[in-house]
Amino acid sequence: MKREKYIKNMIGGVLTDPASNQYLDNINPATGEVYSFIPDSDKNDVASAVKAAQKALPDWMNTPADLRGKIMERVADLINQNLAYFAESESIDNGKSIELARSVDIPRAVQNFRFFASAIRSFSSEAHMMENRAVNYTVRQPIGIVGCISPWNLPLYLFTWKISPAIAAGNCVVAKPSEITPMTAFLLSQICIEAGMPPGVLNIVHGLGSKAGEAIVTHPDIKAISFTGGTATGKHIAATAAPMFKKLSLELGGKNPNIIFADCDFDKMMTTSIRSSFSNQGQICLCGSRIFIEKPIYERFKKEFIEKVRLIKVGDPASENTQLGAIVSKQHRDKIIDYIKLAKKEGGKILCGGHIPEINKRCEKGYFIEPTVIEGLPYSCRVNTEEIFGPVVSITPFDTEEEVIRMANATDYGLACSIWTESLTRAHHTAARIQAGIVWVNCWMLRDLRTPFGGMKNSGMGREGGFEAFRFFTEAKNVCINLEKS
Ligand code: NDP
Repeated sequence: MKREKYIKNMIGGVLTDPASNQYLDNINPATGEVYSFIPDSDKNDVASAVKAAQKALPDWMNTPADLRGKIMERVADLINQNLAYFAESESIDNGKSIELARSVDIPRAVQNFRFFASAIRSFSSEAHMMENRAVNYTVRQPIGIVGCISPWNLPLYLFTWKISPAIAAGNCVVAKPSEITPMTAFLLSQICIEAGMPPGVLNIVHGLGSKAGEAIVTHPDIKAISFTGGTATGKHIAATAAPMFKKLSLELGGKNPNIIFADCDFDKMMTTSIRSSFSNQGQICLCGSRIFIEKPIYERFKKEFIEKVRLIKVGDPASENTQLGAIVSKQHRDKIIDYIKLAKKEGGKILCGGHIPEINKRCEKGYFIEPTVIEGLPYSCRVNTEEIFGPVVSITPFDTEEEVIRMANATDYGLACSIWTESLTRAHHTAARIQAGIVWVNCWMLRDLRTPFGGMKNSGMGREGGFEAFRFFTEAKNVCINLEKS
């Protein structure tokens, strides 16, 4: 298994060139250099992938769950054996620090395969008795061929989060990773072949969202789409797929509040808030980009938070002591910088950061931004309501629980929220009224893969994770048997 200059699609278990024979540049965001090329796939590649999936489907859906699980466990083992190489590849492709890729991204990809391989063995049918009149049992059959489309921020982590439950449930998959970060999905194709995954069960088509992604969404034989990405793209996908009666799971953007009450465990809150603000350069849909602090501790929070943010080491993602790596692309870096400029126009004061730092040597042409903290913004302004998806947070004081809930809920998003308090009553009370699919109390990004994952409002539709994912990737069929004697 290795990185190649020319990445290939995997169709029917074979690594192939795109039908067009055209390739796109793959840029290392830490250096700004083109370091490999991505298949510019189109509807012809997607059609071939669907044919391969159709061929594989009858056998795969009838393969016992235990055997499907064993094949997936082999994939997990092989990723794990090559963890360092995968982590290095993810760091080069995405710009994230090598430490983060090694401790979070790749271990989680391994865990995704292991978790769903195991969970499918205990996914059971329900039965409903109607006294002595009838018995109902509800079987859950695979949908058939499903499409999985994932973003660039946690490339292998989110790609495997989708394809693992889909495959475990007996479907065949046509998947597209983000064109911006394709390398670890390419390594995964090589691993799947080595692990003996039957050809056609997983097909990976690389390329642009508007071409390869669109071809997956519109293909009539792909019956369900699981998508993670931006809200605007999700809206477009929903508009396209809904009239075709496809099943849809949409995991979209967020603008998450981090609510800090004065009675919190201050040190624990501070350490976690640094992480929840700036992990992966703030490019995690769960990052808490709006920090609300109860007035009695506002000044203390501001002082200590800024001191700590100034210490964050921004630099070469390949360096062991780097904490904040490169932003994923020049286009995205420029978008974040525009939001920082907008913050000033909207009345914000930049307390620290806000600039493009100078990074020496091989990274001087890379895309970096200093971690940035902004104060004084109205809670309803654009910077406080639109997703920036970068190392930029705002801090806002509040007086009462009512006030902070009103401010926290004042966006169109509803993905995640953190609440910091030592009061059990307040934690429950606030959690109940926050509009978010995921609420963390005194923690952040503490994930149990069995729990439902997803957002309210414009942050998405449906839930993934645990049996929710299997419910999405299967069709329920109820069989009712009459028990009455004639
Ligand atoms: P995009 O919406 O731009 O892209 C996501 C994926 O969709 C990519 O593979 C993209 O391909 C593809 N795509 C783009 N257009 C289409 C189309 N018309 N039809 C089908 N596929 C298409 O998101 P980003 O990659 O920029 O990711 C960042 C976003 O993802 C943020 O908004 C973030 O909040 C969200 N996100 C949500 C998560 C959640 O769980 N709720 C988790 C992580 C991220 P290409 O790359 O080629 O454009």
